[in-house]
Amino acid sequence: MTSFSKMILRIAAVLCLLPGGLAGCKASGKESSSAAGQPPFMSAVASAPPQTSDDAPPSDKTGGFDGKRAFAHVAKQVSFGPRPSGSEAIAKLQDYIQSELSSYGCKVEADDFHADTPIGRLSMKNIVAKIPGEKPGMIVLATHYDTARSARDPHTGEVHPMPTFVGADDAGSSTGVMLELARLLCAKRGPYAVWITFFDGEEAMHDWSDTDSRYGSREMAARLSTSGDIKKIKAFLLADIVGGRNARFLRESSSTPALVDLIWSTSAKLGYRRMLSTKSVPKRWPSPATFSWKRSSSFKRGRHSTWQ
Ligand SMILES: [Zn+2]
Repeated sequence: MTSFSKMILRIAAVLCLLPGGLAGCKASGKESSSAAGQPPFMSAVASAPPQTSDDAPPSDKTGGFDGKRAFAHVAKQVSFGPRPSGSEAIAKLQDYIQSELSSYGCKVEADDFHADTPIGRLSMKNIVAKIPGEKPGMIVLATHYDTARSARDPHTGEVHPMPTFVGADDAGSSTGVMLELARLLCAKRGPYAVWITFFDGEEAMHDWSDTDSRYGSREMAARLSTSGDIKKIKAFLLADIVGGRNARFLRESSSTPALVDLIWSTSAKLGYRRMLSTKSVPKRWPSPATFSWKRSSSFKRGRHSTWQ
């Protein structure tokens, strides 16, 4: 089995490992103050019961991935409060991510850059743990780690600020997953290099658009394109919003079909078939902010345990 296949096995397992939904993570009382000046779904999130990591599968059943550790990373992120790009809280998270990666023996690189946004020029930072391989080419595993400032109400079209949005699931869950994967993978060597990447500025500063979103990944893509390294990427796997209690994932329709097939077939072999739908994400998928609103509406109707 190739190291890539092993990694995909772990990723597939990871989808099931963030235990019990994450909406109940406490943010130093941040949620309880969400009623004032906040969209109505926030109070629903605040009333969700706290979750624990007790039902995480043991790491000897998951190739070493420790769901409790991943959950603890989520709780830590939430404890910093809302973490939009350019905030003091995200600076604390950047320090946390870098110090955790260093403690695992990862080679860590940070790209500090500035982005011109609708709310001004902001400092941002992409963080990459680079694990060398034995031959040319790399596999990129990625998440963003910033949290949203606002969301669009699909019914009224209005953009609402979310000053108390602490992002346990978006993007705390995937950041916890990538940190735990880094702990495992930085100690290994495979045929291909692995870059575990933490993007800043994925969320819109005002309203999601091609120019107001994904500042970090666009920055990295531009740098990789300029250097020529973009041709060395064998596979790119992005995780985001992976911590729902009853998470069920649609097939991503704009991705490389062979990679999606590999994840789906491997996950089924590992016993996680119930988490994977055979349906595809619609081609015209709503913007993430709109999606968040829709999920929050479902949450209020009791269909989803978490969206945040
Ligand atoms: Zn996200």
